[in-house]
Amino acid sequence: MVLLDAAGLTKRFGGFVAVDDVDITVDTGEVHSVIGPNGAGKTTLFNLLAGAYEVTAGEITFDGRDITDLPEHERPYLGISRGYQITNTYESLTVFENLQTAVALYHQNYYDMIRSLANRTEVTERVETLLERFELAPQRNVEASSLSHGDRRRLEIGMALASDPRLLLLDEPTAGMDAGETERTVSLIQELTDDMAVLLVEHDIEYVMTVSDVITVLERGAVIAEGPPGEIREDERVQEAYLGG
Ligand code: ADP
Repeated sequence: MVLLDAAGLTKRFGGFVAVDDVDITVDTGEVHSVIGPNGAGKTTLFNLLAGAYEVTAGEITFDGRDITDLPEHERPYLGISRGYQITNTYESLTVFENLQTAVALYHQNYYDMIRSLANRTEVTERVETLLERFELAPQRNVEASSLSHGDRRRLEIGMALASDPRLLLLDEPTAGMDAGETERTVSLIQELTDDMAVLLVEHDIEYVMTVSDVITVLERGAVIAEGPPGEIREDERVQEAYLGG
């Protein structure tokens, strides 16, 4: 099922076209990656889909609903959640408290948020599930500021999942991770997709090949290839543009 459908997406900064007439669809159950060399427009595209930037032209539909002009802060309530490339945890709170906050914050209004916090069992159960899933249970009482880089990035993804989204947008989720941390994160991302979709933007193509069902390749703002990893690896234009021949 098509969950996210963007058509003719364009973003201009003054006279410069950073994203140029891009079509992209993401299906439920799919990990869809956007790759491309530096400056290709990946982050700009990500920000358009997340609602952080207004589109210059084009349309974005989520689950059949036109969300082109829907503000960023309203998108989580539809089931779109984003993890941030920059650290987005609360430094002085523990892992448990960070997740607890993320679970409580996902409510349409203040009243529901307070009610949710008052209902400790419900919130705690959700936090426990996230701790297990992200292998963070041993660090539950550790302050975010003391976590290793990999643990912190997994915490961020866990927080993005607190709202139980149907689409998770991730900007370079393994940036700065060593090989072992990258592998753990990749297997987590792969486990996520049964009932949801993941769209990730990535500069490092190595693990993208193993984690993705579909890859879209951008060059100078435009799509130059789209397909499964095997096809993308063989694509001559992609090799020229991105893999250095
Ligand atoms: P990528 O993420 O693929 O490295 P970006 O989306 O960050 O690419 O940038 C694409 C192009 O758009 C780059 O040439 C960049 O300089 C330009 N760009 C990005 N953001 C802005 C902005 N806010 N104002 C002007 N130009 C921008």
